[in-house]
Amino acid sequence: MNKALRKAVIAGNWKMNKNRAEAKELIEALKPVVADAKCDVVICVPYTDLETAMAATKGSNIKVGAQNCHWAKSGAFTAEISADMLTEMGVEYVIIGHSERRQYFGESDITVNHRVRAALDAGLTVILCVGELLEQREQGITSEIVSMQTKVALGGVSAEELKRIIIAYEPVWAIGTGKTATADQANEVNHCIREVVAELYGKAAGDAITVQYGGSMNAANAEELLGKEDVDGGLIGGASLKAPDFAAIVAAASK
Ligand code: PEP
Repeated sequence: MNKALRKAVIAGNWKMNKNRAEAKELIEALKPVVADAKCDVVICVPYTDLETAMAATKGSNIKVGAQNCHWAKSGAFTAEISADMLTEMGVEYVIIGHSERRQYFGESDITVNHRVRAALDAGLTVILCVGELLEQREQGITSEIVSMQTKVALGGVSAEELKRIIIAYEPVWAIGTGKTATADQANEVNHCIREVVAELYGKAAGDAITVQYGGSMNAANAEELLGKEDVDGGLIGGASLKAPDFAAIVAAASK
């Protein structure tokens, strides 16, 4: 299977931005400009915007995701949200293991794995984030770090469940910094992730999995990044907050 046969996915990560009125406004602006997309289009919004986003995207090609979920079904986990709570609302996607969760909220490879398991059990499609720190890249251990993160996160995930996993390679030094990995750097690590998946699940699974790049992707650099053989879409932070910018990335992925 080659790139042309894999489904490209452009997903916006709104992070902690947009109140309900702003969310509705952005979605209304997005709907017409991404309507002809040849890739999947997802917006991962704050929990407080989920209901607004579900209503506003109804009948459009925009799918809705959350930015995290807990591993337990319910219980004494103040401020957390379960995967079932998301699916009950009709949410289809969830980001797990974003570097901001790892960096600021003590998320580990093990808790990422628990959250991935819970999300899959609930029927969600997971956007699993992996990526190295700048020091790790400088030490030349990017592939080891990303391989380990991928292997631990996929612990206990069956080949059938893997079809509901998208992996987003997000070098931590490129997120929100305006510093993008070069298209060759992104392609190299995405290829490495594909090989890890092939090692775990076989070549066909490695060939079939969608591997995104994320880290300061924008309207100007998207085409070059998305043109690479192993880059099957993007996870977009800052540029997903402006309809024309996000639409330009979707258009680049639709070529
Ligand atoms: C992200 O948050 O996943 C991300 C890639 O952010 P940005 O595009 O702003 O670097």
